[in-house]
Amino acid sequence: QGVGSESRVGLLAGRGIELMTALLAVIKAGAAYVPMDADYPVSRLHMMIEDSELSLLIGQREVLSRLHLDDESPATLALEDLQASGEPETPPQIALQAENLAYIIYTSGTTGRPKGVGVSYGALSERLLWMREQYAIGPADVLLQKAPLGFDVSVWECFLPLVCGSRLVLTADGEHRDPRRLLQLVQAHGVTCLHFVPPLLQLFAEEEGIEDCHSLRHLFSGGEALSAELCRRVQSRLPHVALHNRYGPTETAINVTHWLCTQNEALRVPIGKPLSNVQCELRDADFELAPLGAVAELYLGGNALARGYLGRPGLTAERFVPCEGGTRLYRTGDLARWRQDAALEFWGRTDEQVKVRGFRIELEEVRAQLLTLPGIRQVAVITREGVGGAQLIAYLIRDGLEDEASLIERLKRSLSARLPDYMIPAQFVCLEAFPLTPSGKLDRRALPEPRWQLRGHVPPRNERERTLAGIWQEVLEVPGIGLDDDFFELGGHSLLATRIISRVRQRFDIDLPLRALFEASRLREFTAEVEQAQEQGSRDSWGGIEH
Ligand code: AMP
Repeated sequence: QGVGSESRVGLLAGRGIELMTALLAVIKAGAAYVPMDADYPVSRLHMMIEDSELSLLIGQREVLSRLHLDDESPATLALEDLQASGEPETPPQIALQAENLAYIIYTSGTTGRPKGVGVSYGALSERLLWMREQYAIGPADVLLQKAPLGFDVSVWECFLPLVCGSRLVLTADGEHRDPRRLLQLVQAHGVTCLHFVPPLLQLFAEEEGIEDCHSLRHLFSGGEALSAELCRRVQSRLPHVALHNRYGPTETAINVTHWLCTQNEALRVPIGKPLSNVQCELRDADFELAPLGAVAELYLGGNALARGYLGRPGLTAERFVPCEGGTRLYRTGDLARWRQDAALEFWGRTDEQVKVRGFRIELEEVRAQLLTLPGIRQVAVITREGVGGAQLIAYLIRDGLEDEASLIERLKRSLSARLPDYMIPAQFVCLEAFPLTPSGKLDRRALPEPRWQLRGHVPPRNERERTLAGIWQEVLEVPGIGLDDDFFELGGHSLLATRIISRVRQRFDIDLPLRALFEASRLREFTAEVEQAQEQGSRDSWGGIEH
């Protein structure tokens, strides 16, 4: 296909052996891969295709056809047409330099558009070799690939087994957030290394039977702060497993600090010490080094740094700043503090970047998208701690006479056509005016607590419906749920769905897949699913991939 070093190849497919083959093919050709999520809105995929200047786009035929690409678009290759048997007679001769791009991962941008971060082969291979040595991973190990390809954790999950001669087990799409299924996979395949973002680690730690995961050696937590409480919970249930807290933004090769959790972590579990060839510096507002123990902004330097943001020299210069000795430092926007033992503690953010269920979101991107839509004059987007973690809430001042309910419906529809699911606010609240501080700025703390809107109450009619309504009420912490209510309209999300399914499994003794709730999100439909599963007895409807 004429692909070589510095070419970019988009990968748009669900997880599977074909996707792994395509990934390996791109790397073997010395090109950079650009992971794209087939669940993203088509307009966002178009934007990524254009922005990353792809030479080739590989994907499932059905997904590619949904994009309606024109003549100006990059060449496409359907996975179904890949000839993946055998080896080429002559291996491709590629002239690859350490600074050539290995992958480009898109992350939320404050300007209302996501930005592509380009990481080099040099930075990637150094990280993989570091992991191999540090954790002594070898042919006896089994790694589970479960992170979506748009998360940089997936990069080591996919490539480390190739570097270490370990076995790779792939989860099927959607299974990565189902702790019960993960438990089954760990046990069935003897998985030894597993990574979680803390909200999913929490669910895994609550799962019945994890004590029987005898094969597990390493559990990695990263992407969000790991609480001491969760740390203790994991350690008490899996005392034979090493729990690691790892830190690193997409703008570096995967992670830049690491910490092996001890048995007596204080309130803040450290993000640990810098890896070799990584520089961590805490600097104040004047770019001066902060004293030991002071909280200041974390800057990162060394081989692990990304090349920058694709096609954004201005933004790259703003975030990757020059420092003494002609090197660059990446300005993370994270606050941190050195402890006496030379480990770093994470202290939050300097800006409005947030994490919701492990996803990195710039609140400004959501706000900017909302402001392009008609019918609203002002918008504030914030996160609030809700049941099951942080939730996005949008506060609006209307412009026009459209009634509140139809405006909110329209905004949700329009946003869904532009943003990934996890960036759509869980609630929209219309106000007459925003509360202001004495200096005239938005007073975030004075924004009213949102209330969930129930649909006209249709009460449960029999024992099964009453029990299920009760489970929804417990998990969502919303009273008075009726048959017409919708799980997602009441603040439900994938993590809470897991809780519901696990309680349904316990009380009804049926093996209901997580997707049942995604496919039947009204209580009435969900009850029908449960009834059907009861009638069929315990049905085995998992679609796991085993290779
Ligand atoms: P991402 O680019 O999605 O990996 O997100 C990077 C950001 O996630 C960092 O800048 C931190 O704010 C946060 N983060 C990543 N790992 C950790 C960790 N172990 N503890 C606390 N925050 C973390």
